[in-house]
Amino acid sequence: MKGAVLYGPGDVRVEERADPTIVEPTDAILRLSATCVCGSDLWPYRGIETYPGPQPMGHEYCGIVEEVGSAVRNIRPGQFVVGSFWASDNSCPICQSGYQSRCVDARLMGLEGAQAPFLRVPLADGTLVATPELPSADLIPSLLAASDVLGTGWFAADAAAVAPGKTVAVVGDGAVGLLGVLAAKQMGAERIILMSRHESRQKLGLEFGATDIVTERGDEGVARIREMTDGLGAHSVIEAVGTQESMLQAMRSTRPGGHVGFVGVTYEVALPGMDLFMSTVHLHGGPAPVRRYLPTLLDLIWRGTIDPGKVFDLTLPLEQAAEGYRAMDERRAIKTLLTP
Ligand SMILES: [Zn+2]
Ligand SMILES: [Zn+2]
Repeated sequence: MKGAVLYGPGDVRVEERADPTIVEPTDAILRLSATCVCGSDLWPYRGIETYPGPQPMGHEYCGIVEEVGSAVRNIRPGQFVVGSFWASDNSCPICQSGYQSRCVDARLMGLEGAQAPFLRVPLADGTLVATPELPSADLIPSLLAASDVLGTGWFAADAAAVAPGKTVAVVGDGAVGLLGVLAAKQMGAERIILMSRHESRQKLGLEFGATDIVTERGDEGVARIREMTDGLGAHSVIEAVGTQESMLQAMRSTRPGGHVGFVGVTYEVALPGMDLFMSTVHLHGGPAPVRRYLPTLLDLIWRGTIDPGKVFDLTLPLEQAAEGYRAMDERRAIKTLLTP
């Protein structure tokens, strides 16, 4: 099969890779219906994160089960399934408490390379959730979004304690931030302020349920949020970028006693001690336990209640993965869907 491989900064190639096979009896092999490029794939693409050698890419996936290992009980060939970017057993005490991304046996799906026609999924019974039937083609982008960006945006809103009547601010207008808006709307937020300066992203944010747009960022952005909330700050803030500036912007936009849900990967972030001490906000985040939310999210998609697939504003054949990366890197696309 042909899959996407990153050779170094800016150098993605689609080349021959070995077909995945059952390695452990708990594995499943999927024939992917769609895959995509993630904002987090841009970290190694930009050389901020480095690999020792050529690295198969991709960790977001959905598709049809081809084959299962001898120990797989609940998943069977022919089912359409979605899984998280972390494989998990869904049975250890950490999974049972809802933090499957930190399962004692968590496996990073990025290592399997999901930007390919076939994918090995470890711990299939714990990781994969099947749809009631085979989905129609128009549902595929939304089901794919559930694999990461929707689940991550949903976790961010949950971690930020979004609830009816609350004012929510969203820092970051990438796919995760936009789906954080969608999640906040579903959770009944009264006011949802999206911080964005890109017209197409603002438009999609409003479609997903944002009530206000703030174009200022940094200290000016914080001042705008305070102005809009009687000087108090938002109840709930979703941080979906992961830089020093965005993290401080999120903390300072939150009222005392409020909640920050942070899901941007915080590579270089260092919180100043006194900002942390005086903030009196709840900070909760990290790699989203998407598996916790998958049954709920698939159900909402299946009934047509939500359409998170709208974040894919560019669809390319897998062979053109390099252009998919470039378009996202240059912010010409919010998110690229790749068809194997
Ligand atoms: Zn991702
Ligand atoms: Zn577990």
